Amino acid sequence: MTPLLEARNLRVAYAGHRALEVPHLQLAPGELVGVVGANGAGKSTLVNALLGWSRGHPRVDGQVFVRGEDVSGMATHARVARGLSLVPEGGAVFMRLTVEENLAAAGPLDGSDRPAHSLDEIYALFPRLKERLHHLASALSGGERQMLAIARALRLGPSVLLLDEPSIGLAPKLVTEVLRQVRSLVGPKLSVLLVEQNLRAAIEVVDRLVLLERGRILAEGPVAAMRDDPRILQAYLGEA
Ligand code: ATP
Repeated sequence: MTPLLEARNLRVAYAGHRALEVPHLQLAPGELVGVVGANGAGKSTLVNALLGWSRGHPRVDGQVFVRGEDVSGMATHARVARGLSLVPEGGAVFMRLTVEENLAAAGPLDGSDRPAHSLDEIYALFPRLKERLHHLASALSGGERQMLAIARALRLGPSVLLLDEPSIGLAPKLVTEVLRQVRSLVGPKLSVLLVEQNLRAAIEVVDRLVLLERGRILAEGPVAAMRDDPRILQAYLGEA
């Protein structure tokens, strides 16, 4: 089966300093893959390179494919039109707009024929957002704001959602709730690449784990096998 998203020989350097070197990474239809690693491991660098987006001016080499199509030379908006959508670290919402206005301001790009999640579908997924429609985004809790950021990304009609640390800054109970919701989004029409520093939480929801350390893949595999991998236990749970 053609992967939904694939990276080959992806290398990223900032001012000559190599931040990421990933020989191969792929995401199958209906899959939730967790990319986990400590601060500075290269997680944001990876999702940004997949989307062709960056802060700073990194040099990006290698290839990215969406459904077998080479998008490496394409700008971010062209990749979004092909089905990639990113929720950056800290979410991306307009603080001075209401929930309703935030959602209205998000929609499929001009020229994109991708079927977006309708507002009714969004409200069914996130009933809390429906209850808070007329609240300013700045008045939402961290978890609600993260849901709004995800909802806005869904309005672009993605087939692959790239989520950069949705749990950051959330209380533990909300982390579980947001990640469960992420899990419930995954299906035949939507795959998710979830970047997380919170391994303990990620391990509960993902199908496959990719362990990133200093820009390289240290280990990867189905979560059932990775759970007991000494590298995981030692590096992140301190239990080996
Ligand atoms: P965090 O959890 O802190 O976001 P991360 O795993 O997402 O960490 P990255 O932000 O991708 O890690 O950083 C990977 C490496 O690239 C780090 O050494 C970082 O200092 C460097 N880096 C990231 N962005 C830039 C930039 N704009 N300019 C220069 N170096 C950068």
